[in-house]
Amino acid sequence: AGTKYRNFPMVPRVIYGKGSFDQLGDILMPRRKHAEAPVIFLVDDVFEDSPLVGRIPLLFEDQIILISADEEPKTGQVDALVAQIRDSFASTPSGIVGIGGGTLLDLAKAVAIMLNNPGKTSRYQGWDLVAKPAVYHVGIPTLSGTGAEVSRTAVLLGPDRKLGINSDYTTFDQVVLDPDLTRDVPREQWFFTGMDCYIHCVESLQGTYLNAFSQSYGEKALELCEEVFLGDLPEDVGREKLMMASWHGGMSIAYSQVGIAHALSYGLSYVLGTPHGLGNCLVFRHLGDYYPEGVRQFQKMLKKNRIDLPEGVCADLTDHDLETMVQVALGMAPLWENALGPDWESRVSPELIAGIYRKI
Ligand code: NAD
Ligand code: ZN
Repeated sequence: AGTKYRNFPMVPRVIYGKGSFDQLGDILMPRRKHAEAPVIFLVDDVFEDSPLVGRIPLLFEDQIILISADEEPKTGQVDALVAQIRDSFASTPSGIVGIGGGTLLDLAKAVAIMLNNPGKTSRYQGWDLVAKPAVYHVGIPTLSGTGAEVSRTAVLLGPDRKLGINSDYTTFDQVVLDPDLTRDVPREQWFFTGMDCYIHCVESLQGTYLNAFSQSYGEKALELCEEVFLGDLPEDVGREKLMMASWHGGMSIAYSQVGIAHALSYGLSYVLGTPHGLGNCLVFRHLGDYYPEGVRQFQKMLKKNRIDLPEGVCADLTDHDLETMVQVALGMAPLWENALGPDWESRVSPELIAGIYRKI
């Protein structure tokens, strides 16, 4: 028997360019089923008073729902949004549009799936558990780095675990890449979410799952990240390049896997609620034994962009919390296998991981 290869979906339509957001009305028009089937826009509430909200092409019964990205998305939050939409409209929406960073993009994917599938959202956390296609959904990133705009997962915090809805129906039907939308991202956030992309590249390129498909995207994304975070680009050029780095970084891990930084970052996030990008940075700087060149470059990026990472984050953890963190990290078997190979279990121990956490 030969190898079983995964056959994965890609985003079938993408529009790219400064100001391309203003073509959204034309893009949605042919997708509108009838006047009673609205388009629902899930928008990061950071835009509440910004001109962007006024540029959303509302028609008929369309609705804007402002959502805070202060906390990472939860399965219960998706259940509540779906109930709210079902209560407000007699017809299933014509489309769901997510506008924001990884948090809003993942919420939009999950809501689109759950409008067409029964039961609770947490039931679909895992791999290929979704039976029916999602409602048409559009992703419009306003923050670059996660790759959530291209990926086939929607990462959600559930009642007992943080896990993605990984399915062929998760991927967006349409993505709008308008680099101008990332103009007002605060500098530290820009760096942390940008480093999510950089770390995706390092983990993919240094992993044992690497193949020419992933490498071709990973190398391009890495090159773009180095230009953005170590070069001296004009700001608007940097925004364009980081948006494309995120896209390629996401494509790179689609056909491989992330690694040790992500495993440990999940532990931090689970116990302390540390945001994904920051958590990756906190962990990554202590992974020089595993990713020597990547960590060296990362230190340069921190310095060049004058970013100070918090210290002593794990200083006051109880043994019990530390143990939970270690267990969450060790539970991510495919990430460890990608990083260290099939015999990874003989190369890591709870003590070793606890030792890294204590340095954070
Ligand atoms: P985010 O969406 O959580 O947003 C971070 C902060 O930036 C928020 O305060 C938000 O309001 C703000 N922000 C966003 N756009 C802005 C703009 N244009 N101007 C000003 N402020 C803006 O951050 P993120 O790092 O993009 O996403 C993190 C989430 O993505 C996590 O939940 C993580 O699990 C998920 N993720 C998903 C995938 C995937 O493939 N689905 C991959 C990696 C990470
Ligand atoms: Zn990531």
